[in-house]
Amino acid sequence: MKVVLLDSKDVGGEILNTELIEDYPGFESVTGAELARKMADHAIKFGLKIETYKSVQEVRSEGDHKIVTLVDGTELSAYAVLVTVGGEPTKLGVVGEKEYHGRGVSYCAVCDGAFFKGADLAVIGGGDSAFQEGLFLTRFAKKLYVVHRRNEFRAQAILQDRLLKMDKVEPITPAEVTEIGGNGDVKWIDIDRDGKTERVKVEGVFVFIGFKPVGRHLFKEHIEHDKNGYLITDQYMRTSIPGVYAAGDTRAQLAKQITTAVGDATTAVLHAERYIEELKDLERAFPSEPKDVVAQTVSKAELQVFAPGDLVLKEGEVADRFYMIIKGEAEATQRGPDGSQIVINRFGPGDYFGEVGLLNDAPRLATVRAKTSLEVMALDRETFAGLMKSSQATEDEVRRVAAGRTRAASPR
Ligand code: NAP
Repeated sequence: MKVVLLDSKDVGGEILNTELIEDYPGFESVTGAELARKMADHAIKFGLKIETYKSVQEVRSEGDHKIVTLVDGTELSAYAVLVTVGGEPTKLGVVGEKEYHGRGVSYCAVCDGAFFKGADLAVIGGGDSAFQEGLFLTRFAKKLYVVHRRNEFRAQAILQDRLLKMDKVEPITPAEVTEIGGNGDVKWIDIDRDGKTERVKVEGVFVFIGFKPVGRHLFKEHIEHDKNGYLITDQYMRTSIPGVYAAGDTRAQLAKQITTAVGDATTAVLHAERYIEELKDLERAFPSEPKDVVAQTVSKAELQVFAPGDLVLKEGEVADRFYMIIKGEAEATQRGPDGSQIVINRFGPGDYFGEVGLLNDAPRLATVRAKTSLEVMALDRETFAGLMKSSQATEDEVRRVAAGRTRAASPR
């Protein structure tokens, strides 16, 4: 497959904003920059094309393709898209924050910490980010305040222990920042503690109070997301748009970790490859079907895997599914008068079966078993009916095949 990775900046994303990573297996301690570089080099070695400084403006569906429009107007077309855009830091929303952004207010210690050698600084927040970035800032800060709205911190215990035991670190809790001020550069923050306003002199304010996912903003058409804007995916990382997958921090999930993001992406890519194969198989089988219907059909299909000899469907049973073979072979048999199984058909990749019972609303005419290891795409009754309804030519062709198979089977 031809794959391109588009990144609006240097490849690495949030990893580049992290100084040290100590929870990625196999790397006891590695800098964010090094891990990002290693990952990129590794992928390039296996043929990935990486395009840096290419910002994506919009992704839209057109038939069975996704059209990816870049900010510079370039359009790319792909069968599948994997969204791994993470998000952006949540803002405090207080007076002075916007004005002093870049002049003392920062959302990235690794990027800006070194500008504050010997300065008094504040980190705002009580989560992993606040503590991890805070630890980094202790290299430069003369004094570091940790301002948090509650007394309890939600950061991991190991990070809390490391940061809070340092002499130069002083927690200020429970406290809310109400204003950031200065004279061109940040000089102080006002905090509200126990109903009283206190002014704390600092030259840098590093805000780590959470994160807003940005993935859904790439789509004009509706894409399912939760109330916080995280994209909802299923176990294969499929979003609600056929052919669009999401992985990492932009997806609704439990933990924003590199480990889980890498796992998400592995699942997404394996499934996307399968999705594309299924799409092409279905398009080959039903060439008159509108392409967007094929994409929707594939996204509703269920993957079923059988070992050699396994039963797929049984003669006489109620018909509830239509099957198309992706990999492997299957064999249709009918019970003969003496009770033995007589082979009446063989199916290979791209062949379909199970349509007779669905079209005639009748019990299965035959039994189908896997002849080899078998992977099929199974469509439920409703999805199959949708496919038939959207193209007369498809329906005619499937009815023609079904009629031939019915004639070839022994009358029951
Ligand atoms: P987070 O875990 O959501 O923590 C945000 C912190 O900001 C919380 O302590 C929260 O206070 C506080 N906060 C939220 N809104 C606020 C407001 N308006 N004013 C003042 N304080 C506010 O976010 P995060 O630290 O950015 O971490 C995000 C995710 O990345 C987490 O899942 C985290 O585990 C992960 N992460 C992991 C690592 C790692 O080393 N493994 C490093 C960085 C991040 P409350 O506690 O009162 O809600």
